[in-house]
Amino acid sequence: MGVVDSVEKKAVMEAYSYVCKDPENNLTKILDVLEKFDVSGSVTKQAETFRRVMEDKDSNWRKLILSFFTDVDDGIRDKILENIIVNGTLLGSKTQNAARKKYGCNVPWTILMDPTSACNLHCTGCWAAEYGNKLNLTYDEMNSIVKQGKELGVYVYLFSGGEPTVRKDDLIRLCDEHPDCEFQPFTNGTLIDEKFADEILRVKNFFPAISVEGDEAATDSRRGKGTFARAMNAMKLLKERKIPFGVSNCYTSANYKSIGSEEYFDQMVSWGAKYAWFFTYIPVGLDAVPDLIAKPDQRKYMYDRLREFRKSKPLLTIDFWNDGEYINGCIAGGRYFLHINANGDFEPCGFIHYADHNLHKDTLLSALQGPMFMAYHNGQPFNDNMLRPCPLLDNPQALRKMVDESGAKSTDVAAPEDVHELTSKTEEAAKDWAEVADPLWARDGGAIRKAREEAAAKAGKKPRQNPR
Ligand code: SF4
Repeated sequence: MGVVDSVEKKAVMEAYSYVCKDPENNLTKILDVLEKFDVSGSVTKQAETFRRVMEDKDSNWRKLILSFFTDVDDGIRDKILENIIVNGTLLGSKTQNAARKKYGCNVPWTILMDPTSACNLHCTGCWAAEYGNKLNLTYDEMNSIVKQGKELGVYVYLFSGGEPTVRKDDLIRLCDEHPDCEFQPFTNGTLIDEKFADEILRVKNFFPAISVEGDEAATDSRRGKGTFARAMNAMKLLKERKIPFGVSNCYTSANYKSIGSEEYFDQMVSWGAKYAWFFTYIPVGLDAVPDLIAKPDQRKYMYDRLREFRKSKPLLTIDFWNDGEYINGCIAGGRYFLHINANGDFEPCGFIHYADHNLHKDTLLSALQGPMFMAYHNGQPFNDNMLRPCPLLDNPQALRKMVDESGAKSTDVAAPEDVHELTSKTEEAAKDWAEVADPLWARDGGAIRKAREEAAAKAGKKPRQNPR
C-alpha cells in the first residue's frame, strides 16, 4: 500500500470510528470521506441514494444498515468495511484499473474458487456434483491465487464447489493468512457446527451464504431429507455469535413462485440473513433438464418481485441474471469475476465450463490475457439490452463464437460437453426471453440511465463507466 493509499485508509477508518459512536446520526459522514477519495466513481454512484435512504427513518435500507451495528460482531463489521469497501473497492479498484490499462485485459473485483469437487450431499441436477469427488485445489494453490489476485487489486474471494466447507480447515487458514481479504463460501451449511462457527467468529473475515431451495419441502426434495433443518441450525449458530450471513437461492420453473413470495422474503429476514443471492437454473451438463429453465414470464416475475421487495425488505438482494443493468451486463471472463474449478481450470464463470488455461501451469494474469478471457473482454457487453446479459442463456451465439474462435476446451470433467450441444439447450429460451426483455428494457432502461446520470451530476462527477 502506497503512502496516499494509507492516508485514504486512515481517513476512512477514522470516519468509521466516528460513525460507530452514533450510527443513527453519523452514518452519512463516512460518505464524505469515501467520495473524496473515489477516483473510480464506484462510491459516488451510490452516495446520493444512500444519503436519501439514511434520512428516511422508515427506509428498509436504513434498517438493514443499522442492523449491522446491533446484530453483527464489531470485529466482523470492521473487517467488512476494511476488506470489501476499502481494500476491495476504494483502493483495490485503483490497482485493478491500472492493471487493466497496463495489461490490456479484464481484471476482476472478485475470484470464485472451488476448493474441492467433494460434497457431503448429492443434490438433484447439481452441476458441481458431476465433477466427482476426486478433485481438489491444494492449500498452496489457493494461497497462490490469493497472492496473485492481491497483486492485481483483488481482495474478495468466493468459494463454491463441491461443498467448500469440506475443506474448512484450509479455508480458515486462508482467512488467517490474508486478514486483509474477505472470503465468502456458497455452502449448504450442513458442516457448520459449534467449533467451526467459533472459528468463523475468531477470524472475522468469513461471510457465508447458505444455499436453500425455498421452503423445507423444496429444499429436502432436491438436497436430501433433513438438509433444511441442518441449514437452519447453521443459521442459528451464526446468528447466536453475531456472524452475518446470506442465503443463496436457485429459482427454476418449478419453485420460482415460492422463492419470489413475500412470505419467503420475510422468512429470510427472520432467519437473520443480511443478503440473498438469486441464481436461475442453467442447463449445464449432459443430464441437465432444460424444462427447469425459468420461462420468460417466470423470469419477469422474479425481476418484478425483487424490485418490489427492494423497496420494503431489510435485505440486500442480488439477482445474478436480472441485475445486468447495474453493472453493464455480463461480469464474467475477469470483468468483475472469474471461476477456478477444482481441477485448476480458469473458467470465465461458474456456469461456463470452457477454458484454455490451468493454474497447474499458468498464472492468473496469463489466463486473463488468454484467448478465452480476451474473447469475453472484447465481446462484453454481449447485448445492448442489459436484461439479456448472458452469452449462454441469452445470447448463445456469442458463447459458441468465443469457444470456437478461442479453441477453449470443455472443462466438464464428468462428461465434456460440446458448446454447440450446450447452446442448443438455451436457444429457444433466449428467443422467448428476448420478446419479454426487449419491451421491458425499452420501458425501464432509459430511467435507469437517467437516474445514474442525475446522481453523478448532482455529485459533480461524470456518470460512472463500468470496466469493459
Ligand atoms: S456468463 Fe452468464 S451467468 Fe456468467 S456472469 Fe456472464 S451473464 Fe452471468
